Amino acid sequence: MKAEIISVGTEILLGDIVNTNSQFLAKELASIGVEVYYQQTVGDNEDRLIKCFEESLKRSDIVITTGGLGPTDDDMTKEVAAKYFNQKLELHNPSWDKINLYFNKINKVPTENNKKQAYFPKDAIILENNNGTAPGAILKKDNKTIIILPGPPREMVAMFNESVKPYLINLTEDVIISKTIKVYGIGESRLEIKLQDILKKQSNPTVALYAKEMAVDIRVTAKAENEDKALSLIKPVIENIKSILKNSIYGEDDETLEDSVAKILVDKNLKIAVAESCTGGMVSSQLINYPGISSIFMEGCVTYSNEAKMERLGVKRETLNKFGAVSEETAIEMAQGVSKTFNTNIGLSTTGIAGPEGGTKDKPVGLVYIGIYINGQTIVKKLNLNGNRQLIRQRATKDILNELRL
Ligand code: ATP
Ligand code: MG
Repeated sequence: MKAEIISVGTEILLGDIVNTNSQFLAKELASIGVEVYYQQTVGDNEDRLIKCFEESLKRSDIVITTGGLGPTDDDMTKEVAAKYFNQKLELHNPSWDKINLYFNKINKVPTENNKKQAYFPKDAIILENNNGTAPGAILKKDNKTIIILPGPPREMVAMFNESVKPYLINLTEDVIISKTIKVYGIGESRLEIKLQDILKKQSNPTVALYAKEMAVDIRVTAKAENEDKALSLIKPVIENIKSILKNSIYGEDDETLEDSVAKILVDKNLKIAVAESCTGGMVSSQLINYPGISSIFMEGCVTYSNEAKMERLGVKRETLNKFGAVSEETAIEMAQGVSKTFNTNIGLSTTGIAGPEGGTKDKPVGLVYIGIYINGQTIVKKLNLNGNRQLIRQRATKDILNELRL
Protein backbone atom coordinates (compact mmCIF):
# COMPACT_ATOMS: atom_id res chain seq x y z
CA MET A 1 0.00 0.00 0.00
CA LYS A 2 1.44 3.35 -1.06
CA ALA A 3 0.66 6.65 0.57
CA GLU A 4 1.76 10.25 0.07
CA ILE A 5 1.75 13.21 2.39
CA ILE A 6 0.63 16.65 1.31
CA SER A 7 1.36 19.45 3.77
CA VAL A 8 -0.93 22.38 3.09
CA GLY A 9 -0.03 25.86 4.27
CA THR A 10 1.69 28.91 2.87
CA GLU A 11 3.56 29.37 6.15
CA ILE A 12 5.37 26.06 5.59
CA LEU A 13 6.34 27.09 2.05
CA LEU A 14 7.71 30.38 3.34
CA GLY A 15 9.73 28.64 6.01
CA ASP A 16 7.83 30.30 8.84
CA ILE A 17 7.16 26.97 10.53
CA VAL A 18 8.96 23.66 10.51
CA ASN A 19 7.04 20.83 8.93
CA THR A 20 6.92 18.51 11.90
CA ASN A 21 3.62 17.01 10.72
CA SER A 22 5.14 15.31 7.71
CA GLN A 23 8.07 14.06 9.76
CA PHE A 24 5.68 12.50 12.25
CA LEU A 25 3.47 10.98 9.56
CA ALA A 26 6.37 9.61 7.53
CA LYS A 27 7.78 7.85 10.55
CA GLU A 28 4.45 6.46 11.64
CA LEU A 29 3.56 5.24 8.17
CA ALA A 30 6.91 3.49 7.80
CA SER A 31 6.38 1.80 11.15
CA ILE A 32 3.13 0.22 10.00
CA GLY A 33 4.49 -0.83 6.63
CA VAL A 34 2.82 1.82 4.46
CA GLU A 35 5.25 2.89 1.75
CA VAL A 36 5.81 6.61 1.25
CA TYR A 37 7.74 7.54 -1.90
CA TYR A 38 6.71 11.17 -2.22
CA GLN A 39 5.80 14.13 -0.04
CA GLN A 40 4.58 17.52 -1.19
CA THR A 41 4.16 20.92 0.38
CA VAL A 42 1.71 23.35 -1.16
CA GLY A 43 0.31 26.77 -0.24
CA ASP A 44 -3.33 27.56 0.43
CA ASN A 45 -4.27 27.64 -3.25
CA GLU A 46 -7.05 25.69 -4.92
CA ASP A 47 -5.48 25.10 -8.35
CA ARG A 48 -2.15 23.97 -7.00
CA LEU A 49 -3.75 21.75 -4.40
CA ILE A 50 -5.83 20.06 -7.13
CA LYS A 51 -2.61 19.45 -9.07
CA CYS A 52 -1.05 17.86 -6.00
CA PHE A 53 -4.01 15.50 -5.61
CA GLU A 54 -3.83 14.57 -9.30
CA GLU A 55 -0.15 13.75 -9.17
CA SER A 56 -0.26 11.90 -5.88
CA LEU A 57 -3.25 9.74 -6.65
CA LYS A 58 -1.77 8.76 -10.03
CA ARG A 59 1.12 7.15 -8.16
CA SER A 60 -0.38 6.14 -4.81
CA ASP A 61 -3.48 4.68 -3.19
CA ILE A 62 -3.77 7.09 -0.31
CA VAL A 63 -3.07 10.77 0.24
CA ILE A 64 -2.84 12.22 3.72
CA THR A 65 -3.14 15.99 4.03
CA THR A 66 -2.50 18.16 7.05
CA GLY A 67 -3.60 21.77 7.46
CA GLY A 68 -6.26 23.99 5.98
CA LEU A 69 -9.23 22.74 8.02
CA GLY A 70 -9.77 25.98 9.90
CA PRO A 71 -12.88 28.15 9.73
CA THR A 72 -11.55 30.88 7.44
CA ASP A 73 -11.76 31.14 3.67
CA ASP A 74 -8.09 30.41 3.09
CA ASP A 75 -8.59 27.03 4.78
CA MET A 76 -9.82 24.92 1.89
CA THR A 77 -8.27 21.47 1.95
CA LYS A 78 -11.50 19.59 2.58
CA GLU A 79 -13.45 21.65 0.05
CA VAL A 80 -10.80 21.08 -2.64
CA ALA A 81 -10.55 17.34 -1.90
CA ALA A 82 -14.34 16.99 -2.16
CA LYS A 83 -14.30 18.94 -5.39
CA TYR A 84 -11.52 16.75 -6.76
CA PHE A 85 -13.60 13.63 -6.01
CA ASN A 86 -16.75 15.36 -7.29
CA GLN A 87 -18.51 15.01 -3.97
CA LYS A 88 -20.94 17.54 -2.51
CA LEU A 89 -20.58 18.85 1.04
CA GLU A 90 -23.49 18.54 3.45
CA LEU A 91 -23.89 19.65 7.05
CA HIS A 92 -22.96 16.79 9.38
CA ASN A 93 -25.11 17.51 12.40
CA PRO A 94 -23.21 15.46 15.01
CA SER A 95 -20.02 17.39 14.12
CA TRP A 96 -21.85 20.72 14.34
CA ASP A 97 -23.23 19.71 17.76
CA LYS A 98 -19.73 18.82 18.89
CA ILE A 99 -18.33 22.14 17.73
CA ASN A 100 -21.07 23.94 19.68
CA LEU A 101 -20.26 21.88 22.74
CA TYR A 102 -16.56 22.66 22.37
CA PHE A 103 -17.28 26.39 22.34
CA ASN A 104 -19.75 26.11 25.22
CA LYS A 105 -17.06 24.59 27.34
CA ILE A 106 -14.82 27.60 26.87
CA ASN A 107 -17.76 29.98 27.32
CA LYS A 108 -17.85 31.13 23.72
CA VAL A 109 -20.22 30.76 20.82
CA PRO A 110 -19.09 29.46 17.44
CA THR A 111 -19.17 31.90 14.55
CA GLU A 112 -21.02 31.18 11.35
CA ASN A 113 -17.57 30.43 9.85
CA ASN A 114 -17.14 27.53 12.23
CA LYS A 115 -20.14 25.84 10.63
CA LYS A 116 -17.97 25.26 7.56
CA GLN A 117 -15.94 22.84 9.67
CA ALA A 118 -18.99 20.58 10.04
CA TYR A 119 -19.59 20.12 6.31
CA PHE A 120 -18.51 16.83 4.74
CA PRO A 121 -19.31 14.66 1.74
CA LYS A 122 -22.19 12.33 2.56
CA ASP A 123 -20.15 9.14 2.55
CA ALA A 124 -17.05 10.46 4.28
CA ILE A 125 -15.77 8.83 7.43
CA ILE A 126 -15.60 11.62 10.00
CA LEU A 127 -12.60 11.67 12.32
CA GLU A 128 -13.39 13.23 15.68
CA ASN A 129 -11.16 15.98 16.96
CA ASN A 130 -10.85 15.83 20.74
CA ASN A 131 -8.35 18.67 20.89
CA GLY A 132 -9.85 21.31 18.66
CA THR A 133 -12.83 22.21 16.53
CA ALA A 134 -12.06 20.84 13.07
CA PRO A 135 -12.93 17.16 12.54
CA GLY A 136 -10.83 15.31 10.01
CA ALA A 137 -12.22 13.01 7.33
CA ILE A 138 -11.54 10.05 5.09
CA LEU A 139 -12.89 10.51 1.56
CA LYS A 140 -12.97 7.65 -0.90
CA LYS A 141 -13.60 7.34 -4.58
CA ASP A 142 -13.07 4.14 -6.56
CA ASN A 143 -9.95 2.71 -4.99
CA LYS A 144 -8.40 6.05 -4.03
CA THR A 145 -8.48 7.61 -0.58
CA ILE A 146 -7.83 11.10 0.75
CA ILE A 147 -7.34 11.42 4.50
CA ILE A 148 -7.70 14.96 5.76
CA LEU A 149 -6.14 16.00 9.05
CA PRO A 150 -5.92 19.38 10.84
CA GLY A 151 -2.71 21.43 10.85
CA PRO A 152 -1.99 22.01 14.55
CA PRO A 153 0.38 19.18 15.50
CA ARG A 154 -1.33 18.39 18.79
CA GLU A 155 -4.66 17.85 17.03
CA MET A 156 -3.13 16.03 14.07
CA VAL A 157 -1.06 13.60 16.16
CA ALA A 158 -3.98 12.67 18.40
CA MET A 159 -6.31 12.17 15.44
CA PHE A 160 -3.74 10.06 13.62
CA ASN A 161 -3.11 7.85 16.65
CA GLU A 162 -6.75 7.50 17.62
CA SER A 163 -8.37 7.00 14.23
CA VAL A 164 -6.10 6.91 11.21
CA LYS A 165 -3.47 4.46 12.38
CA PRO A 166 -5.99 1.76 13.31
CA TYR A 167 -7.77 2.39 10.00
CA LEU A 168 -4.56 1.92 8.01
CA ILE A 169 -3.40 -1.10 9.99
CA ASN A 170 -6.73 -2.67 9.18
CA LEU A 171 -6.08 -2.20 5.48
CA THR A 172 -2.65 -3.79 5.44
CA GLU A 173 -2.43 -7.53 5.57
CA ASP A 174 0.66 -7.72 7.73
CA VAL A 175 1.29 -5.71 10.83
CA ILE A 176 4.64 -4.19 11.54
CA ILE A 177 5.58 -3.68 15.15
CA SER A 178 8.65 -2.00 16.57
CA LYS A 179 10.12 -1.91 20.03
CA THR A 180 12.93 0.40 20.98
CA ILE A 181 15.62 -0.25 23.54
CA LYS A 182 17.40 2.85 24.77
CA VAL A 183 21.05 2.85 25.65
CA TYR A 184 23.23 5.43 27.39
CA GLY A 185 26.99 5.58 27.68
CA ILE A 186 28.00 3.37 24.74
CA GLY A 187 28.67 4.97 21.37
CA GLU A 188 27.15 3.69 18.15
CA SER A 189 30.31 2.04 16.83
CA ARG A 190 31.03 0.21 20.08
CA LEU A 191 27.42 -0.94 20.13
CA GLU A 192 27.77 -2.25 16.61
CA ILE A 193 30.69 -4.40 17.72
CA LYS A 194 28.88 -5.66 20.82
CA LEU A 195 25.78 -6.54 18.82
CA GLN A 196 27.49 -7.73 15.65
CA ASP A 197 26.09 -11.27 15.79
CA ILE A 198 22.55 -9.97 16.14
CA LEU A 199 23.03 -7.30 13.50
CA LYS A 200 24.50 -9.76 11.02
CA LYS A 201 21.85 -12.43 11.09
CA GLN A 202 18.81 -10.18 11.21
CA SER A 203 15.95 -10.47 8.75
CA ASN A 204 12.64 -10.63 10.57
CA PRO A 205 12.86 -8.93 13.01
CA THR A 206 15.25 -6.30 11.75
CA VAL A 207 17.51 -4.49 14.18
CA ALA A 208 18.62 -0.91 13.57
CA LEU A 209 20.73 1.52 15.58
CA TYR A 210 19.78 5.19 15.74
CA ALA A 211 22.38 7.50 17.27
CA LYS A 212 20.84 10.29 19.30
CA GLU A 213 22.50 13.36 20.82
CA MET A 214 23.81 11.50 23.83
CA ALA A 215 22.34 8.04 23.53
CA VAL A 216 21.60 5.32 21.04
CA ASP A 217 18.21 3.79 20.29
CA ILE A 218 18.06 0.18 19.13
CA ARG A 219 14.90 -0.48 17.16
CA VAL A 220 13.69 -4.03 16.68
CA THR A 221 10.97 -4.35 14.05
CA ALA A 222 8.99 -7.44 13.08
CA LYS A 223 6.39 -8.13 10.44
CA ALA A 224 3.74 -10.79 10.89
CA GLU A 225 0.09 -11.52 10.24
CA ASN A 226 -0.95 -10.24 13.64
CA GLU A 227 0.37 -8.27 16.59
CA ASP A 228 0.93 -11.27 18.85
CA LYS A 229 3.01 -13.06 16.23
CA ALA A 230 5.09 -9.95 15.61
CA LEU A 231 5.67 -9.48 19.33
CA SER A 232 6.71 -13.10 19.73
CA LEU A 233 9.35 -12.57 17.04
CA ILE A 234 10.61 -9.42 18.73
CA LYS A 235 10.76 -10.77 22.28
CA PRO A 236 13.71 -13.18 22.05
CA VAL A 237 15.81 -10.61 20.19
CA ILE A 238 15.11 -7.99 22.85
CA GLU A 239 16.05 -10.44 25.57
CA ASN A 240 19.25 -11.27 23.78
CA ILE A 241 20.15 -7.58 23.46
CA LYS A 242 19.34 -7.00 27.13
CA SER A 243 21.60 -9.84 28.20
CA ILE A 244 24.48 -8.31 26.25
CA LEU A 245 24.04 -4.66 27.21
CA LYS A 246 22.70 -5.14 30.73
CA ASN A 247 22.62 -1.86 32.64
CA SER A 248 23.64 0.31 29.72
CA ILE A 249 19.96 0.10 28.88
CA TYR A 250 17.95 2.81 30.58
CA GLY A 251 14.53 2.31 29.08
CA GLU A 252 12.21 1.23 26.32
CA ASP A 253 10.16 2.98 23.65
CA ASP A 254 9.33 6.55 24.70
CA GLU A 255 11.00 6.44 28.09
CA THR A 256 13.59 9.14 28.71
CA LEU A 257 16.74 8.83 30.80
CA GLU A 258 15.45 11.36 33.31
CA ASP A 259 12.13 9.56 33.66
CA SER A 260 13.76 6.22 34.25
CA VAL A 261 16.07 7.75 36.89
CA ALA A 262 13.26 9.63 38.58
CA LYS A 263 11.18 6.47 38.65
CA ILE A 264 13.97 4.52 40.36
CA LEU A 265 14.35 7.24 43.00
CA VAL A 266 10.60 7.41 43.67
CA ASP A 267 10.26 3.62 43.78
CA LYS A 268 13.13 3.35 46.26
CA ASN A 269 11.90 6.40 48.17
CA LEU A 270 15.33 8.05 48.05
CA LYS A 271 15.04 11.71 49.05
CA ILE A 272 17.15 14.01 46.93
CA ALA A 273 18.53 17.57 46.86
CA VAL A 274 20.54 19.13 44.07
CA ALA A 275 23.19 21.88 44.02
CA GLU A 276 24.13 23.06 40.57
CA SER A 277 26.73 25.42 39.30
CA CYS A 278 27.47 25.06 35.59
CA THR A 279 24.26 23.16 34.80
CA GLY A 280 22.24 26.05 36.22
CA GLY A 281 19.13 24.11 37.21
CA MET A 282 18.98 21.61 34.34
CA VAL A 283 19.41 18.58 36.61
CA SER A 284 16.57 19.70 38.88
CA SER A 285 14.40 20.64 35.94
CA GLN A 286 14.83 17.27 34.25
CA LEU A 287 13.97 15.39 37.42
CA ILE A 288 10.97 17.62 38.05
CA ASN A 289 9.62 16.78 34.59
CA TYR A 290 8.64 13.48 36.14
CA PRO A 291 5.18 13.54 37.68
CA GLY A 292 5.30 12.08 41.15
CA ILE A 293 8.78 13.37 41.94
CA SER A 294 7.36 15.52 44.75
CA SER A 295 7.47 12.58 47.14
CA ILE A 296 11.29 12.62 47.10
CA PHE A 297 12.61 15.85 45.56
CA MET A 298 13.39 18.28 48.37
CA GLU A 299 15.20 21.19 46.74
CA GLY A 300 17.36 22.30 43.87
CA CYS A 301 19.71 25.27 44.25
CA VAL A 302 21.67 27.06 41.60
CA THR A 303 24.75 28.03 43.58
CA TYR A 304 26.69 29.76 40.86
CA SER A 305 28.91 32.12 42.82
CA ASN A 306 31.55 31.15 45.37
CA GLU A 307 29.55 33.07 47.99
CA ALA A 308 26.48 30.96 47.33
CA LYS A 309 28.51 27.79 47.51
CA MET A 310 29.85 28.86 50.90
CA GLU A 311 26.72 30.38 52.43
CA ARG A 312 24.10 28.09 51.03
CA LEU A 313 26.01 24.81 50.98
CA GLY A 314 28.74 25.30 53.55
CA VAL A 315 31.59 24.80 51.09
CA LYS A 316 34.75 25.90 52.95
CA ARG A 317 36.53 29.05 51.88
CA GLU A 318 39.87 27.21 52.11
CA THR A 319 38.59 24.58 49.69
CA LEU A 320 37.63 27.22 47.15
CA ASN A 321 40.91 29.10 47.62
CA LYS A 322 43.09 26.04 47.45
CA PHE A 323 41.40 23.92 44.77
CA GLY A 324 39.06 26.37 43.02
CA ALA A 325 35.31 26.18 42.40
CA VAL A 326 35.80 23.67 39.62
CA SER A 327 37.43 20.87 41.55
CA GLU A 328 36.79 17.46 42.98
CA GLU A 329 36.91 18.86 46.50
CA THR A 330 34.30 21.55 45.83
CA ALA A 331 31.99 19.07 44.10
CA ILE A 332 32.18 16.79 47.13
CA GLU A 333 31.43 19.58 49.61
CA MET A 334 28.58 20.85 47.46
CA ALA A 335 26.94 17.42 47.27
CA GLN A 336 27.34 16.82 50.98
CA GLY A 337 26.27 20.35 51.84
CA VAL A 338 23.04 20.30 49.87
CA SER A 339 21.98 16.97 51.31
CA LYS A 340 22.36 18.32 54.84
CA THR A 341 19.53 20.86 55.08
CA PHE A 342 16.80 18.28 54.60
CA ASN A 343 18.87 15.28 55.55
CA THR A 344 18.29 13.68 52.15
CA ASN A 345 19.57 10.29 51.06
CA ILE A 346 21.09 11.80 47.97
CA GLY A 347 22.86 15.09 47.27
CA LEU A 348 23.98 15.94 43.76
CA SER A 349 26.39 18.59 42.60
CA THR A 350 27.77 19.91 39.34
CA THR A 351 30.61 22.36 38.90
CA GLY A 352 32.47 22.95 35.67
CA ILE A 353 33.66 25.20 32.91
CA ALA A 354 30.99 25.42 30.24
CA GLY A 355 32.87 28.02 28.18
CA PRO A 356 33.34 29.48 25.72
CA GLU A 357 35.66 31.63 27.90
CA GLY A 358 37.30 30.73 31.18
CA GLY A 359 39.27 27.63 30.24
CA THR A 360 42.92 27.20 31.17
CA LYS A 361 45.52 24.56 30.36
CA ASP A 362 44.83 22.75 33.64
CA LYS A 363 41.11 23.36 33.60
CA PRO A 364 39.95 23.45 29.99
CA VAL A 365 36.45 24.26 28.76
CA GLY A 366 34.36 21.11 29.14
CA LEU A 367 35.89 20.07 32.45
CA VAL A 368 33.03 19.26 34.80
CA TYR A 369 33.01 17.57 38.19
CA ILE A 370 29.86 15.83 39.29
CA GLY A 371 29.41 14.91 42.92
CA ILE A 372 27.04 12.28 44.22
CA TYR A 373 26.44 11.85 47.92
CA ILE A 374 24.43 8.71 48.68
CA ASN A 375 23.62 7.62 52.21
CA GLY A 376 26.93 8.57 53.78
CA GLN A 377 29.21 7.96 50.82
CA THR A 378 30.34 10.51 48.28
CA ILE A 379 31.71 9.82 44.84
CA VAL A 380 32.95 12.38 42.42
CA LYS A 381 33.51 12.03 38.69
CA LYS A 382 35.60 14.11 36.40
CA LEU A 383 34.11 14.64 32.95
CA ASN A 384 35.84 16.07 29.92
CA LEU A 385 32.99 17.06 27.66
CA ASN A 386 32.90 18.31 24.10
CA GLY A 387 30.58 20.82 22.55
CA ASN A 388 29.44 24.38 22.99
CA ARG A 389 28.28 25.85 26.28
CA GLN A 390 24.75 24.49 25.95
CA LEU A 391 25.86 20.99 24.96
CA ILE A 392 28.42 20.77 27.75
CA ARG A 393 25.72 21.67 30.25
CA GLN A 394 23.28 19.15 28.73
CA ARG A 395 25.88 16.40 28.66
CA ALA A 396 26.90 16.98 32.27
CA THR A 397 23.21 16.83 33.22
CA LYS A 398 22.64 13.53 31.46
CA ASP A 399 25.86 12.07 32.84
CA ILE A 400 25.00 12.81 36.45
CA LEU A 401 21.46 11.51 36.02
CA ASN A 402 22.82 8.36 34.44
CA GLU A 403 25.05 7.78 37.47
CA LEU A 404 21.94 7.52 39.63
CA ARG A 405 20.72 4.59 37.61
CA LEU A 406 23.72 2.46 38.31
P1 ATP B 1 -6.64 26.18 12.22
O1 ATP B 1 -8.03 25.79 12.62
O2 ATP B 1 -5.76 26.47 13.41
O3 ATP B 1 -6.60 27.22 11.14
P2 ATP B 1 -5.85 24.28 10.18
O4 ATP B 1 -6.24 22.85 10.13
O5 ATP B 1 -6.50 25.20 9.19
O6 ATP B 1 -6.02 24.80 11.64
P3 ATP B 1 -3.43 25.48 9.41
O7 ATP B 1 -4.16 26.80 9.42
O8 ATP B 1 -2.88 25.02 8.12
O9 ATP B 1 -4.33 24.33 9.99
O10 ATP B 1 -2.28 25.48 10.48
C1 ATP B 1 -2.54 25.90 11.81
C2 ATP B 1 -1.24 25.88 12.60
O11 ATP B 1 -0.82 24.53 12.76
C3 ATP B 1 -0.07 26.57 11.89
O12 ATP B 1 -0.01 27.93 12.16
C4 ATP B 1 1.09 25.83 12.48
O13 ATP B 1 1.42 26.36 13.74
C5 ATP B 1 0.57 24.43 12.65
N1 ATP B 1 0.91 23.59 11.49
C6 ATP B 1 0.24 23.51 10.32
N2 ATP B 1 0.83 22.65 9.48
C7 ATP B 1 1.93 22.19 10.10
C8 ATP B 1 2.97 21.26 9.77
N3 ATP B 1 2.97 20.64 8.59
N4 ATP B 1 3.93 21.01 10.68
C9 ATP B 1 3.92 21.65 11.87
N5 ATP B 1 2.97 22.52 12.25
C10 ATP B 1 1.98 22.79 11.39
MG1 MG C 1 -6.00 27.46 9.23
